Amino acid sequence: MSDDLRDLYQDLILDHGKRPRNFRIPSQPTREALGHNPLCGDRLTLYVTMDAAGMVQDAAFQGIGCAISVASASMMTEMVKGKSLPEIDRLFAYMHAACTGQSADETGIEEEDKDRIAALSGVRDYPVRVKCATLAWHTLQAALKQEGAASTE
Ligand code: ZN
Repeated sequence: MSDDLRDLYQDLILDHGKRPRNFRIPSQPTREALGHNPLCGDRLTLYVTMDAAGMVQDAAFQGIGCAISVASASMMTEMVKGKSLPEIDRLFAYMHAACTGQSADETGIEEEDKDRIAALSGVRDYPVRVKCATLAWHTLQAALKQEGAASTE
């Protein structure tokens, strides 16, 4: 990775960490789940509003955590809006592969989402940070499967 690209990704994480998007409690979420990463102390509640067609109409979160966990949740809520559950499954698989250094299937992944995930996947050299970066995603899975909670442990 070039230094310029690394700086760009770092700026993206810092920006979302400081000014998280969709950091609110929606009025009528249809799904929600708690996520906890005991290793770092990250704790978030994720809210998802599904529409009648089974698409994610809105995603938002609240909570406290390190910059990586907050930035990841912020970017994730932006990424999943307007997507169907199969699309989100593909995005999750792509994110997970990117963060664990495995080769990822890029089929159907939008360029903008690839950039955001590339920024987040910078954590792959730091196993402890991988849990921070993937917490929101595990919490999203718990919300969509109506499991109520997710833990990185
Ligand atoms: Zn963390």
